[in-house]
Amino acid sequence: MVITGKTQLLGVIGDPITHSLSPVMHNAALADLGVDWVYLPFAVAPEQLETAVRGFAAIGLGGFNVTIPHKQAIMPLLAGVSEVAQAVGAVNTVWRTDAGWWGTNTDVVGFLAPLQALGQAWSQSHATILGCGGAARAVVAGCAQLGCQVIYVVGRDVAKVAAFHASWSQRDVCDRLFVATWEQLPQLLPTTQLLVNATPVGMHPQVDQSPLTTAEMALLPPESIAYDLIYTPNPTLFLKLAQKRDLRAIDGLEMLIQQGAAALQIWLQRQVPIPVMEAALRQYLGLAGGRG
Ligand code: NAP
Repeated sequence: MVITGKTQLLGVIGDPITHSLSPVMHNAALADLGVDWVYLPFAVAPEQLETAVRGFAAIGLGGFNVTIPHKQAIMPLLAGVSEVAQAVGAVNTVWRTDAGWWGTNTDVVGFLAPLQALGQAWSQSHATILGCGGAARAVVAGCAQLGCQVIYVVGRDVAKVAAFHASWSQRDVCDRLFVATWEQLPQLLPTTQLLVNATPVGMHPQVDQSPLTTAEMALLPPESIAYDLIYTPNPTLFLKLAQKRDLRAIDGLEMLIQQGAAALQIWLQRQVPIPVMEAALRQYLGLAGGRG
């Protein structure tokens, strides 16, 4: 593309930012749409966050994504945040309004997209979420939106899972949200319909690790879904074990693409080419398949 004086800017801030895949998929979509926008990575240290956000307003940035470690810290710097960002307690997408920067969290719609595509009812479903970090928060908000009957969050640190539970105490989901430790997992699995790995266990380069053993995977009911938020490797060992049992397996690539697509849609106020974003990511990551 030719960058001119009219080219509009989008971007992503994080620290570090060198591993971000967002520029790959967003610039592929912008090129496909033929619009005069470009999406750039910005490394912003925590102590520079406020200055960077003010600078973005000064230079007229159209909007930006926010990644680790700024997802919570940015919230008080914005004019307002969406209901879903408040529930998750983190913002990953920011756009310009007349009142100033506004933020939301598109990880929730990203997480939900492949589940909603299944077209099934969730009101009787039990979800079990492995891990209680940032991604688990978006998964809890997503499972609440699906209407899951029971949501268990499993953590390895009793104090951290208790704090996680307490952080939802003012939310409607609180009465169907429970926490457990890994030792309790074998009791939870036989009634789990949706099992989500929201830990980095099994992520590249630890590709021979899985949060569940073969024996634990065998405890899941046959109709259950195994969902790994990790997108490299693809599939993870966790998903390979699920596939061996003929369970439905969902990888993290779809969530990554869908959260990005939702952000781009907010900035451009138009439909965005999701297959193009997927093809660009798959090509970049050296993965086969896709809809592109
Ligand atoms: P995070 O905030 O660091 O949380 C990680 C969680 O996993 C914590 O609860 C941590 O427990 C737990 N954990 C880490 N190592 C563990 C181990 N060996 N055994 C058991 N538990 C362990 O990270 P995050 O941002 O939530 O991300 C989690 C995963 O989701 C990452 O793999 C990330 O790439 C993926 N993700 C994917 C997408 C997507 O779009 N597909 C989006 C967001 C995240 P402690 O607190 O005790 O350490």
